[in-house]
Amino acid sequence: MSKRDYYEILGVERNISEKDLKKAYRRVAMKFHPDRNPDDKDAEEKFKEASEAYEILSDSQKRAAYDQYGHDGVNPQMGGGGGAHNFSDIFGDVFGDIFGGAGGGRGRGGPQRGSDLQYTLQVDLEQAVKGTTAKIRVPTLVACKPCGGSGAKPGSKPVQCSTCGGVGQVRMQQGFFSVQQACPTCHGQGTIISDPCNSCNGQGRVEESKTLSVKVPEGVDTGDRIRLSGEGEAGPAGGQAGDLYVQISVKPHDIFERDGANLYCEVPVNFVDAVLGGELEVPTLDGRVKLKVPAETQTGKLFRLRGKGVTPVRGGSKGDLMCRVVIETPVNLSNKQKELLREFQTATKADKHSPRQSSWFEGMKEFFN
Ligand SMILES: [Zn+2]
Ligand SMILES: [Zn+2]
Repeated sequence: MSKRDYYEILGVERNISEKDLKKAYRRVAMKFHPDRNPDDKDAEEKFKEASEAYEILSDSQKRAAYDQYGHDGVNPQMGGGGGAHNFSDIFGDVFGDIFGGAGGGRGRGGPQRGSDLQYTLQVDLEQAVKGTTAKIRVPTLVACKPCGGSGAKPGSKPVQCSTCGGVGQVRMQQGFFSVQQACPTCHGQGTIISDPCNSCNGQGRVEESKTLSVKVPEGVDTGDRIRLSGEGEAGPAGGQAGDLYVQISVKPHDIFERDGANLYCEVPVNFVDAVLGGELEVPTLDGRVKLKVPAETQTGKLFRLRGKGVTPVRGGSKGDLMCRVVIETPVNLSNKQKELLREFQTATKADKHSPRQSSWFEGMKEFFN
């Protein structure tokens, strides 16, 4: 029996690139694949012929020999039944990307679960403390609507894989050992899609941006994760969807800093109020409140406003708001004002009115002696 020209079998020019050769083989093999053409001897022959042609032409050495000497130059191992192992390697290589490349490591056949997704949600401190509902847009893979996620053209069904008999696993002989691994034909699915859905190319899922509403509970902090069950990527071939993890990131606030359940803020205090005592307005997340500052208040003094902090998301009592006083040095003084201050200075004695400064000077003296 005279053999057909390999290039003719794949329907390609003699100078075709390796990449285009792969595409051409994929096209021909998909057309004549036995799973799609059950009990069709002619298709089976054409499929074997294409596989043999690809096996030779995809190997640069064998291709060079074939180009020079024709069929006499190459000795394909595909001819008889012995080539089956070789064939599945090629098949896996070429088709791995079409069928989702489930790969090894899966225990049983059947649809694979979709991947989990992570989304970082930035919230304001107010939103984190009081809780909020956020709308997010997540690019993901969703089940294809026309085929209901099966990947099979509407009206058709995935058929049982003939290589593994639907188990999704095959035994391979490696020397003395028999190793079980994912079926190279169906990639562990146990089924083959003979008539792929046009919308998803047989993948069963398509890329889409989903808009979701996320309920952020009160008290969350940076690093907390909210799990949205089943909102991750749809599984291939109708598999269960993964989960979506929304990771909270709290934006820095102009006024408040958070430490666990407590909030901190700095309150600038006019130096006369600090000396004589007075009343201040301080901010809280629930609005302003009045704070009494006693006479002789120093910088660094912390005032605690009970219950104006955060209710921790994992339970526990509500924290406090800590206001740290910073005495502000007056600026832009007129000559008259400066004169008054000098007058004030002459009338005061350091050791009596500034005990901290006096003891500090004493300490410094000791240090240098
Ligand atoms: Zn589809
Ligand atoms: Zn299989």
